[in-house]
Formats: sequence, C-alpha cells, structure tokens
Amino acid sequence: MQDSVTSIIDCKKWQREQSNSQSNVDVTVRELLGRIEQEGDAAVDEMSQQFDGFAPTWIELKSPEDYELEPELLQAIKDAASRIEGFAQFQRDKLIDSTYVDDCGEFGFRYQAIERIGAYIPGGRFPLISTALMTLIPARLAGCQERIACSPSDHPAILAAASLAGATGFLKLGGAQAIGAMAYGYDSMKPVQMVVGPGNQYVNAAKQLLSQTIQIDVAAGPSELLILADETVNQEWVIADMAAQAEHDPQAQSLLVSDSSELLNSVEASLANDSELKQLLDKEQIILLKADNIEHMIAFSNQYAPEHLLLADRRVDQSLLTNFGSLFVGENSAVAYGDYCSGPNHTLPTMGTANRSSGLSVLSFLKVQSVQAVHEVGRKKLSAMGEKIAEAEQLVWHKQSMAVRS
Ligand code: NAD
Repeated sequence: MQDSVTSIIDCKKWQREQSNSQSNVDVTVRELLGRIEQEGDAAVDEMSQQFDGFAPTWIELKSPEDYELEPELLQAIKDAASRIEGFAQFQRDKLIDSTYVDDCGEFGFRYQAIERIGAYIPGGRFPLISTALMTLIPARLAGCQERIACSPSDHPAILAAASLAGATGFLKLGGAQAIGAMAYGYDSMKPVQMVVGPGNQYVNAAKQLLSQTIQIDVAAGPSELLILADETVNQEWVIADMAAQAEHDPQAQSLLVSDSSELLNSVEASLANDSELKQLLDKEQIILLKADNIEHMIAFSNQYAPEHLLLADRRVDQSLLTNFGSLFVGENSAVAYGDYCSGPNHTLPTMGTANRSSGLSVLSFLKVQSVQAVHEVGRKKLSAMGEKIAEAEQLVWHKQSMAVRS
C-alpha cells in the first residue's frame, strides 16, 4: 500500500502524463505524418509494411451473418449494438433544434452532422470489436454520411461489427499512418473531416498532431480506472475490475483509493498471492492508496480525473465527483459492462483530460450552428445598438452596413 492520500493530494505523482517516452513518440509521429503529407500513398504503404508487415487493403464489408462467427458471439455483438444504439438514439432525441422569437426577429440553433468521419478501431494487441460499435453507431445516428473504419485488424468479428454498425468503407491499416491516411486522404478516400476512436500512443499522438487539420474526439489513450471503495466492497470484484483495465496496455493503470486500511491490506495480500496480479502491483499498473477520510478520496478523484470512475462507497455523494469520463455507480456496475455493452460510449478521455473534455457521443459528431433572421422592426433596433459599438471599434464599414438599414 502506498502513502496516505492526504500527503499526495496533488495526484500528479500518479497521473500518467506526457513523459519523455511520449515526447519521443511525438517526434517519431510528427516525422511520419510529415512524410505522408509530402509523399502521399507511397509513404502510407511503406509505413504499413514497416510497422505491421502488410499492405493497406480495402475490405468490402459483407452482412454480419456472412462472417461465420460462433452464433452466440454474433448474437452478443447484435445485442450490444442494439443497447449502444438505444443509448445513442436517446441522446440524439434530446438534441432538438430550437428557435426563440423576440422583438428583433428569430434566433436559433440547429445540429448538423459532420459529413465524412473516420473511426479508428484498435487492433494491435487485441481486436477491439466493441470499438467498431462504439464509434460507428453514434456517427450513423448523428447523420454522418461517410463513415470509414480503419483498423490494423481484419478479425472477422471486427468486420461483422463494423458492418452491423454501418461503416461505409473499411481500410485495413493501423497506427499513426492510418490517422494520417484518413486526414490527408488515401487512394480513393477523400480526407475525412473528423477522426475518432481510441488507440495506443502512436495513434493518439497522430490525432493530437493533426488536430489543426481535422476535428478529433478525445485524448483516448491507455485505459485507466479509479475505484473509491469502503471496507464493505466485494474484493474479488474490484480486483477483477482493476486487472481488467490494466490488461489493455502496459501503460494502463488502475487505482484503488480507500480510507480503510483493512480493505487495502486485504486486497494487497490477495494480489501478492497471485503471480500475474502481483506483477501488475509491482509495475504500478495497480496502485493501492490510503486516504484519511472520504473528503480526501473525493478531492483525489476530482484532481486525478480518471477515465473510468467506479464508486463503491455509499458514503460518497456522487454529485461531488466532478471530473471523470464515465462514472460507474455501485459495485454491480462492472467497468467492463461499459467497455462492451451497457450502452454509453467506451471512448473516453484519459491522462487527466477528463477535467475538461467529454467522451465520445452522438454530440461529438454534430456541429451546433446558429441561425438568425432579423425582421423590419428588428433591423432598426439592432442598427442603433451595433452602430455605436462599431464606431467605438473604428470599424467604418461595419457601421455603414448597419446604418444603411436603419
Ligand atoms: P492500436 O491499433 O492502437 O495500435 C497498433 C498500431 O500501432 C500498429 O498497427 C502499428 O502500426 C503501430 N505501432 C506499433 N508500434 C509502433 C512503433 N514502434 N512505431 C510506430 N508505430 C507503431 O492497438 P494497441 O497497440 O493494441 O493499442 C490499443 C490502445 O487503445 C490501448 O492503449 C488501450 O488501452 C486503448 N483503448 C483506450 C480506450 C479509451 O477510451 N481511452 C478504449 C479502448 C482502448
């Protein structure tokens, strides 16, 4: 067990940040993207061979039934897709174009889908079938017309999920070169306007570096979990939850914070008894932290801003938890349900960015546009107001364009 949380309320000590290794990744990825911009498809082809040993390939998607998946797996993917779609539709239905009318005219806003998007589906270490559903379904419900899936994996279940989720194209290509290809265009694919989806350090660095050229969703890097627990928590369950998030990536991290020494000592003993789990503890992929009280637990959580936050402590008022990607309330709510099938999205902010950004949702794919219609009476009233301000700003033609209407 580590130090008391009181002495490390500045949770920076535990937060994964832009480390030296990350800045090295940035340098590498910057160079790769520069080459793609200059040399185009040939550079993408070469990088794909170099890092993945295959040439980028367009795969024509068939119907999900044609992939000969085990029937139970296909059914589970369909059931998960239907829950993810249900939640995304629920969210979409809440986003209503609106207009108000006042003495100057009509003023409103409307939601307009981004036309062409690319969804990255990780496939380096594990084929993340669920990411195909999590990225492509909200994009389809938002109304994006072109939805290109890119993945280094052509696992039949990924292809079935991408087909079910409504991908309009599937390019087998991974890493930073996939993000570059989507942003700059590749072969018959025109540049997309937005790239979404999680990925490793290379994928995320490429998204960040291209964020001036394309819209990106969120810094969805190596997974992280923070559990706030009291001594009554089911230890077997939370140990499994921590190991589950840690297994995503050697960079992934799971923390258990509690004010109960009894709980932490007991969890530590269980971890030490299992060679696989002990390794996670030794490598600080699982970290156990003692807090003095629940106020410190809450303060720590709000500063750390975890991607996944599991609240397994009935004393904590959830409204006091302000920074997280997705909150799982109560120990029944396994974080893995969120990874696969509960409905809300699993593409979530990491590395502390949950203090300022949100996970992927239907909303991510929509532009909020304003619409203004001024009437005869309104134009006189607004001219009187605006002309004075334009005069003070010394913007002569601004003033004139209103004066001619007054
Ligand atoms: P990936 O598809 O993201 O990356 C694999 C690609 O990385 C390869 O195809 C290769 O082209 C490239 N690559 C590998 N080594 C390289 C090198 N040395 N130089 C240049 N390029 C290289 O798959 P992954 O590696 O399995 O990572 C998936 C990540 O996604 C994990 O970190 C996981 O935690 C994360 N994830 C995050 C969320 C979230 O919402 N935050 C959700 C799911 C998964």
